[in-house]
Amino acid sequence: MNTYGRFPVSFPKGEGVYLYNEKGEKFLDLMSGIGVNALGYNHPKIKKALQEAIQKPLHLSNLYEIPEQEKLAKKLCEDSPFDEAFFCNSGTEANEGAIKLVRKFWSLSGVEGTSQKKNIKNEKNIIISFSSSFHGRTMGSLALTGKDSIKTGFTPLIGNTQILEWNNLEDLENYFSGNNRDNVAAIFLEPIQGEGGINIPDNKFLKKISEICKKYNVLLVVDEVQTGIGRTGKKFAFEYFDIQPDVICLAKGLGGGVPIGAILATKKISSAFTPSTHGSTFGGNPFVCTVATAVCDEVLEENFLNSIVKTGINVCDEIQILMNKYPEILLDKRGKGLMIGIEINSVENRNFLLTKFLEKNILVLPSGDKTLRLLPPLIITKEEMKVFWKVFDDILQKM
Ligand SMILES: *Cc1c(COP(=O)(O)O)cnc(C)c1O
Repeated sequence: MNTYGRFPVSFPKGEGVYLYNEKGEKFLDLMSGIGVNALGYNHPKIKKALQEAIQKPLHLSNLYEIPEQEKLAKKLCEDSPFDEAFFCNSGTEANEGAIKLVRKFWSLSGVEGTSQKKNIKNEKNIIISFSSSFHGRTMGSLALTGKDSIKTGFTPLIGNTQILEWNNLEDLENYFSGNNRDNVAAIFLEPIQGEGGINIPDNKFLKKISEICKKYNVLLVVDEVQTGIGRTGKKFAFEYFDIQPDVICLAKGLGGGVPIGAILATKKISSAFTPSTHGSTFGGNPFVCTVATAVCDEVLEENFLNSIVKTGINVCDEIQILMNKYPEILLDKRGKGLMIGIEINSVENRNFLLTKFLEKNILVLPSGDKTLRLLPPLIITKEEMKVFWKVFDDILQKM
């Protein structure tokens, strides 16, 4: 169906950070299939994992034990606040499951460690999210998404959701001075908004959220679908901030190209899910878990994470050089690690740049209204980025 406006190009071959079209022409990939191909193309570790996985049943059922799934869960939860994982197939499915998890949690007032307030039962079900957020396209995650245009024609979405203004302390305080505050089950947020413009929250804003979560018994769900698994130079991007999520959602880069999503939660919260309360036929099958484990083994290694931070700093330095040269066109740079936005002075110029880069065989992404977004494979080197700076400079010079 016609759900994407597609560029007229296809890529039958990929190697490292490069893709090749039908004619064999080489493209520099600075978007990684929207943050998915963390290890680029044809990576030896992924190939090895794939070869290993195809020797065994690709799929079993979550009715049986799946050691590959347990291994991945352990890897994701180790050195983190989380104790248990639920596996699914995409980011939206992870968020949808997290919505169910937080609602289930508050519906069971007897869950260990919960305040046993009488009025909590069945009423504590409001979920808060923020403007310019993106959480997915199914009825729950779409309800939480802070962009009206993509909701048109699909209402009614799930109820008892509330969108507040991103990074606005006053809006947050106002809402929590109102009558509904005790019925808020959870706040959903992206630690860095990916689709909405690469928007980093102020520490003050996050501090307020932490305070509110404690004061009014609100769970914090961090959507790390785009930011997680090394994208920002840390295992999870929330580690950059002074917040303590109860639940996080992962997908995109986790599988390095195979479809997998995950919810991680503290034991206190995850124990609200018991047999038959939630599920997924394909979720966490041996095939995807074997590949995702190989991706995590590679990406979450300390030296690898450090190299992402280093390359990211170099990218920002290079952007700064261009910003100094073209201050009327390049207004701002934002991001962490290899998740970087460059704000352009108009929508038209941003879109012009996207087209020009494609003409010059470079793949970049838009984000928000007028931001260029870079999500290169995490293996990219500063040498491989060089052609981008040269082409960018050439295009800007003619604008
Ligand atoms: C991409 C994205 C999603 C949706 O993931 P899908 O795998 O496309 O369903 C949800 N949240 C965030 C932050 C994303 O970037």
